[in-house]
Amino acid sequence: MPSESIIQVALPVPLPGCFDYRLPAGSPTPPRGARVQVPFGRRTLVGLVHGHQPSQFAKLKNVQRVLDQEAVIDEALYTLCERAARYYHHPLGEVLGFVLPALLRQGQPALAGGEVRWRLTDRGHHVSDDRLTRAPRQLQALTVLKEHPDGLTPAMLEALSVSKSALQALRDKEWVERVELQPEAAGTPAEVLAEPALAANPEQRAAIHAIVDAQGFQPFLLDGVTGSGKTEVYLQAMAPVLAAGKQVLMLVPEIGLTPQTLRRFRQRFAVPVTVLHSGLTDRERLDAWVAARDGRARIIIGTRSAVFTPLAHPGLIIVDETHDASLKQQDGFRYHARDLATWRAQQLAVPVVHGSATPALETLHLARTGRYHWLRLTRRAGDAGAPPIELLDARDTTPDRPLLPTALKAIRDTLARGEQALVFLNRRGFAPVILCRDCGWQDECPRCDSLMTWHRSEQQLRCHHCGHQHRVPQRCGDCGSSNLTDAGAGTEKLEALLEKECEQVKGGAPVVRIDRDTTRRKGSLDAKLAQIQKGEPAVLVGTQMLAKGHHFPRLSLAVITNMDAGFLSADFRGPEQAAQLLLQVAGRSGRQDRPGRVLMQSRHTDHNLVQLAAAGDYQALANTLLEERRGAGWPPFGHLALLRCEAMTMAQALTFLDECAAGLPALDNVHVLGPVPAPMEKRAGRYRAQLLLQSNQRPALHGLLDALMEHARALPSGRRCRWHLDVDPIDLL
Ligand code: ADP
Ligand code: ZN
Ligand code: ZN
Repeated sequence: MPSESIIQVALPVPLPGCFDYRLPAGSPTPPRGARVQVPFGRRTLVGLVHGHQPSQFAKLKNVQRVLDQEAVIDEALYTLCERAARYYHHPLGEVLGFVLPALLRQGQPALAGGEVRWRLTDRGHHVSDDRLTRAPRQLQALTVLKEHPDGLTPAMLEALSVSKSALQALRDKEWVERVELQPEAAGTPAEVLAEPALAANPEQRAAIHAIVDAQGFQPFLLDGVTGSGKTEVYLQAMAPVLAAGKQVLMLVPEIGLTPQTLRRFRQRFAVPVTVLHSGLTDRERLDAWVAARDGRARIIIGTRSAVFTPLAHPGLIIVDETHDASLKQQDGFRYHARDLATWRAQQLAVPVVHGSATPALETLHLARTGRYHWLRLTRRAGDAGAPPIELLDARDTTPDRPLLPTALKAIRDTLARGEQALVFLNRRGFAPVILCRDCGWQDECPRCDSLMTWHRSEQQLRCHHCGHQHRVPQRCGDCGSSNLTDAGAGTEKLEALLEKECEQVKGGAPVVRIDRDTTRRKGSLDAKLAQIQKGEPAVLVGTQMLAKGHHFPRLSLAVITNMDAGFLSADFRGPEQAAQLLLQVAGRSGRQDRPGRVLMQSRHTDHNLVQLAAAGDYQALANTLLEERRGAGWPPFGHLALLRCEAMTMAQALTFLDECAAGLPALDNVHVLGPVPAPMEKRAGRYRAQLLLQSNQRPALHGLLDALMEHARALPSGRRCRWHLDVDPIDLL
């Protein structure tokens, strides 16, 4: 053993590379992936051991503490993080810091916390009640605990209205104790199914067999319209994996993690389902992480960052709604969980299933060229058939009458039949602009290139880009006239209009608005969904929050408004995203046995893409869009990276990007476009510009990005702005 050992440590700092440290003499050498605590500048940081090479530096600081003898990030996961760091040109130490649960970043032991229970001590069992006649709350606590000899968790105690101070008082008397019970290792039950599977239809059967028969790594695209039974395919493909004692990792979009979805998995299987989402406490997150690492968690369902969950016995990876934009992280470490899921499956030699009714064109292209095994479900499971989308010419609508008479009549008829209708408008607030009738002035955000949205019930105008708020102006900001008005409609206005409409229906019907404003309070979304589930006649008004994951059994009409902008958008992803959203929303109407009706109001009913989307022909639409993209060299035919910069002036931002571009070698196969001001030039008080790099050869692009990052980090002009690189950006705004 060498007399002194040197290690390389990956630290959560925005710098590339690892840092050398000396291990104290006699200290055992921790393996790669174990945590150490080290001094860094004036701070103390927790980092991960990266390597054990000698150092070229003579003076090294000592490791303060070795926190683990074993790796907390196993070799497979570590390698994935390294690959992601390279691909996204993000510092490895920050990637690893992102992957570690917060408590591990803070140096806590990598163990599951036990379940906390309160129970009586031996002395407590023998206390006679009359000793507490003057403390009724303590007496109540004692009585409850006597009835539960195994003890009660804090949540159970709260449900039984046991007071915390009473418990504490009893603990001081040593009649009650707080214990932590370690989780038990759970074996695989003899039968993993808790309820029988549905009888699969032939298309489902073919898909299930293909997945179950896959040997090692194999990527699948499960391409099936809404309601075609994709979830049932996941469930049946999971069963043999679970029965073999292995784990299933499933990623879902933020919005798809509904109680309904979870219930289906929990009902079907007799093994634990662990959920990872942003609402967990640090302790809960670490417990879930450890449960997955130790193999106790058998089904792990989570949003994008769950792709980094350690797995003891991986068997299958599923990405549901694989086209969803929330799978791409839009700040800090800008990874795409969809792509990492495929890498991970490859590395772990397990199948990966990407499911969607409207796959991203990138994914569709992989399936069409045979790199993904393409599984198709072409009919709704119950054979109701997808509803046709009826296009309504909306050129006659006005801000005060955003819904056409045909749409209003359809809503009234639906209510009269005792059913529910949905009106989709992807814009919250009452009206998107306040303007002056005399001079045309519009109320703009002082900090952004955007208009202020009027939120009538709050008597405020709000900027949806930076959160800036101000009161509704009494006078024009330009000419001083008081002749102000609002224009356009948001969900709040639709709600008010529809409430009037519903008053005229016999018996009346409630209007339920679902958007970020009405669901901000915890539990309010669930309450609204529960009201809809009851099935009484109602009108739902909402934004894309309504589009996915929810099943509304009594909903038979969807009215879709204001989707034109997406189809006509200059952003090359605009039409694709509009079509995806449109078909998701349309899929809410009618399930199984009852065909629904879908109306789409459009001012461009003769537009080719609008017509293809309305025909529900996603494949034809995708063909058209893919041909356009092939011609322009956009993804999947070309690859993109975007260097974004924000500064106090536009000149500063452009100067930095100009210097970045000037430092790049000229290559034939990589195009450098810009720098140019971003489509939204100013946001939250900062000016924004961007440099786009485009190539149809990934290695050439990534080679250039290496050079770009090194050059950019060294530029003094970069210190006066904020900048970052986004590899495979999905948003060019
Ligand atoms: P998707 O995930 O594609 O939207 P689901 O799996 O949620 O579709 O299925 C839609 C509905 O059809 C669900 O209510 C489900 O229980 C039902 N279903 C799915 N497969 C079958 C089947 N093989 N037989 C009967 N009902 C089915
Ligand atoms: Zn004016
Ligand atoms: Zn703003």
